[in-house]
Amino acid sequence: MVVCSTCVLPESYPGIQFDEDGVCNLCRQHMAGAASTAGSFSCEEDLLEVLAGWKDKSRKYDVLVPASGGVDSSFALVKLVETYGLRPLVYHNDHGYEDPTATENVRKLCRKLNVDLIFWQYDTPFMKKLWKYLNGNYLEDTSACYICGNMLYLNAIELACRFDIPLVVNGYSKGQADLISDKEQGRRRFENMMALMAHDRDFFNELTRKYEYLGRQKIFEKRGDLEHPGQKDRILVLPFFVFQFYKTDKQFLKEECRRRFDWQPQETNYPRRTTNCRMIWLNTHMDLKKMGYSVYHAEYSRLIREGEITREQALEDLEFSPPGNIVQTLADEIGVDIHRNPAPFRKVEVPAPELGEEDDFAF
Ligand SMILES: [Zn+2]
Repeated sequence: MVVCSTCVLPESYPGIQFDEDGVCNLCRQHMAGAASTAGSFSCEEDLLEVLAGWKDKSRKYDVLVPASGGVDSSFALVKLVETYGLRPLVYHNDHGYEDPTATENVRKLCRKLNVDLIFWQYDTPFMKKLWKYLNGNYLEDTSACYICGNMLYLNAIELACRFDIPLVVNGYSKGQADLISDKEQGRRRFENMMALMAHDRDFFNELTRKYEYLGRQKIFEKRGDLEHPGQKDRILVLPFFVFQFYKTDKQFLKEECRRRFDWQPQETNYPRRTTNCRMIWLNTHMDLKKMGYSVYHAEYSRLIREGEITREQALEDLEFSPPGNIVQTLADEIGVDIHRNPAPFRKVEVPAPELGEEDDFAF
């Protein structure tokens, strides 16, 4: 398989084209300066001033922070509390396949910071169905990891609504943010996915209810969004990386988290050096089989273009070697036949839920 000589995207990636040097069109566009970054906060003083507007003593919490137990969201939480003085509600999700080390990291950090933590043990049978439908079928450029990420995200918005919290700050990387910011692609994925699951009526209805929370979010796009708290009754969602004076240097973050609250890495994971749930092994196995790449290839390609990781490091991190027979074990648990080639999904028209024109179709 041909792979871009600059990033790690293969020829099976939708819409990809290579020039005579083997460089893909996405890398070329980036070199030509087409890429843009959202952040416009030059220093901490600047940010401190803007964030002060989000402190409201009449509320219990200023910000909701989804925490995976990984170093990015952990570090974001530490800074929001210690440097910016915001009062967070921390949310950790376990859909039944979370790694105990990651969960323990979140508990330790919240104890250390004396902040409230909501541990949401999210409906495991529901998630198993979601993974089964996505892994057992082929949908262009989507992955069970992607949809699972949607659920985590929507749970965060739901909690922010319930606790009247106007701001969500997550630890997404630039690569993740890129992956999820394409509204057109997001809408297409959503419609296909809904069609894929429409036959399972109760499940479909529950899924549709989850997506209604999309209507309550506002994705951070520009500085002005943060300068005017509580606009239009929407919850502002921003990834911590927009504060560009923080480097996403994993080694630095690991040392910092270890020093502060005895953060522990997971024994094995995919991609290497990250924090993810155990279902990553089955999801990635099926993604590679179906598409020739995983969602992480797209994410890491963006990180390479942004100069945050070298191509060599990305290739090393993305090498897929699942421990033992974990892929088969997980497949048995959710009822997916990993030896069958997933059939390309043919879209049938079903009444997809109506969403407003204004709804941000990004996560
Ligand atoms: Zn490329």
